[in-house]
Amino acid sequence: DRSAVTVIGLGAMGAALANAFLDSGRPTTVWNRSPEKADGLVAEGAVRAATATEAVSASPLVVVCVLDYRAVHDVLGPAGAALSGRVLVNLTNGTPEQARRTAAWAAERGADYLDGGIMAVPPMIGSPESVLLYSGSADAFEAHRRTLEILGTGRHLGADAGLAPLHDLAMLTGAYGMFAGFLQAVAMVGTERAEVAEFTSSLLVPWLNAMTTELPRLAERVDTGDHATDVGSNLAMQAAAFPNLVDAAGAQGVDAGLLAPVRALLDRGVAEGHGAEELSSLVELLRKPAPA
Ligand code: NDP
Repeated sequence: DRSAVTVIGLGAMGAALANAFLDSGRPTTVWNRSPEKADGLVAEGAVRAATATEAVSASPLVVVCVLDYRAVHDVLGPAGAALSGRVLVNLTNGTPEQARRTAAWAAERGADYLDGGIMAVPPMIGSPESVLLYSGSADAFEAHRRTLEILGTGRHLGADAGLAPLHDLAMLTGAYGMFAGFLQAVAMVGTERAEVAEFTSSLLVPWLNAMTTELPRLAERVDTGDHATDVGSNLAMQAAAFPNLVDAAGAQGVDAGLLAPVRALLDRGVAEGHGAEELSSLVELLRKPAPA
């Protein structure tokens, strides 16, 4: 398969995408607002488009990856007419609502649309560990699957263009919960240690790995709505211990602001009668926000 592809947006991620297409031998046309970012790719064999319209017109498959959706529309707005009959794959991070609006915008211009979320950092692009979530036109995904899988493992989640960003943002939410925990943990333990690297690799990471094995079990409880505890870690016990995390951070001179909303949620769980249940029962509270 030697079908041509266009990449619009050559920041850290867009350049990695274009490189992967080039490496696999695809005729690759590139465009970036600041043209010098195309220089390295052009030296490797990419074709430089003079305008975004020229870039769109060069290939049946147009991949755009810029900072945000405002940039997507700044770039593609003037090139809209050229999109007719092409497949637009938007790998820019955004919300489900932004994706749905952009899908409608593309449909008005006669383009098939796929929204995508890249679950990888640029050096991972082109390896199977790089996972890309897609939603929108299933026909477009099937037609261009071999090209898209040059970038990494592709997963099509459904016809609603908002589904890929929904899953992308949910996965980032999970990761940021972990990063927030990491930041708080090393800020705290670092008050009594000269360095935190050894603590992180020998204690924290094995512990977090063990904790992640609990997640599928908790997720099943969310699915069934049965939060009865079978591991002896009920909410009342957790709510009683949690203030120690906050108090110890404060006593070590570390800001405990990241912990406060978790403490409030645990307390609310107990107050609303979930004390004997699993942590999973808090999902029900999150879906039913606290009265203002
Ligand atoms: P960069 O900051 O490296 O690049 C941003 C790109 O957006 C540049 O090409 C820039 O053009 C372009 N841009 C910004 N504003 C405009 C505008 N108004 N008009 C035209 N072009 C504009 O970001 P990344 O490449 O790292 O990220 C791109 C997307 O990929 C983002 O949505 C990001 O969330 C997502 N992503 C990034 C990951 C990463 O680890 N890097 C991981 C997963 C997703 P110019 O060069 O002219 O400034």
